Amino acid sequence: MSTFRDRTAVRTKHEGDIVNITSWAADRIKASGIKQGIACVMVKHSTAAIALIEDEPGLKGDLVRALENMVSKDAPYAHNTAGGDGNGHSHIRSTMLGQSLTFTFDEGRPDLGTWQQLVLLELDNTGRERTVLIQLVGE
Ligand code: ZN
Repeated sequence: MSTFRDRTAVRTKHEGDIVNITSWAADRIKASGIKQGIACVMVKHSTAAIALIEDEPGLKGDLVRALENMVSKDAPYAHNTAGGDGNGHSHIRSTMLGQSLTFTFDEGRPDLGTWQQLVLLELDNTGRERTVLIQLVGE
């Protein structure tokens, strides 16, 4: 059993920015030399998320609109009155979507379907520098 760990910095441009990190994760799996196992990708922030989606502009816009419908930016948030950073909705969306994602890999490649792209979602009210970690376990 082997393990491998790495990280990268991702600069997001704005709220709702969806950054495809599939090739970074695939490259890290290949570089690890581990052929088969489990990969966990995590963003180390409470106002961002990691998810799988088809990387298609219409669908990415649909997701941003769905998030606005489910967790409106304009709803009252105790966090906003307590902290004043105006990102109560960002924290709730991040918790709902998840800040990490686990998937299997085989023959040194992620077991992702053709339309499953690994993405980082910026949910805060401005672009930020995000730390993304990958942890592999396998052989
Ligand atoms: Zn906050």
